[in-house]
Amino acid sequence: MPTAKTLISTIKRLVRSTCDVLMPRTCPVCRNALSAVEPFVCQHCLDLLPRTLFETRTFNPMEQLFAGKTPIVRATGFFYYRKRSPYTNIIIDTKYHNSPRLGQWFAHYAADSIKSSHFFDGIDCIIPVPMHASKLAKRGYNQAEYIALGISQATGIPIAHNVAAVLPHDTQTRKSIYDRWKNTQGLFAAVDASMIENKHVLLVDDVVTTGATLLSCAKAIENVPGIKISLMTLASAILD
Ligand SMILES: [Zn+2]
Repeated sequence: MPTAKTLISTIKRLVRSTCDVLMPRTCPVCRNALSAVEPFVCQHCLDLLPRTLFETRTFNPMEQLFAGKTPIVRATGFFYYRKRSPYTNIIIDTKYHNSPRLGQWFAHYAADSIKSSHFFDGIDCIIPVPMHASKLAKRGYNQAEYIALGISQATGIPIAHNVAAVLPHDTQTRKSIYDRWKNTQGLFAAVDASMIENKHVLLVDDVVTTGATLLSCAKAIENVPGIKISLMTLASAILD
């Protein structure tokens, strides 16, 4: 007798295959059609994903980026974000092409993949990097919320919202690294900080480039008594 879980997944697959005939879904990386058992990214592209494996390395390049700026326990970005690499489409589609569920699914996959490294051990809650209300109104969703949801589903760690975006964020695309640092100061503030006292929190975002946004977010809570902060992103533009 099939269990309720296998029955639901069979039904899901059937619905997917029917929809695929009507409107084929494609992999954001290679743009080939997805099979019914591939919800968002094809297996071939997942197998070739340029993993950083930062979570397996002591004082990895992402941890080095934050050293001396704010106390960080651990940090990892799941795969290398290289310009012109088709893998960047996972982030671009999640952020700009109204595919937050892709980010959620991929975050679940990422968390599952790094779980055995003990990266999540001792973490009490996941805090998505918040988005200011003006940007949220424009985009309609905060991709970091969906990423936090995927990690939470894979690990069972609850999500908390103890950081708020208090100032709108200028676009950083054309700014120098120094301007980016300046531009992100004071963007975030702690909310109900007593709730995260003596907790180990995991700040999550889609991609780390200069680290300015994550740093600003960490700065907002670094003085909460007894707090420990770790960081996780789906992608890392920090190379070795
Ligand atoms: Zn693919």
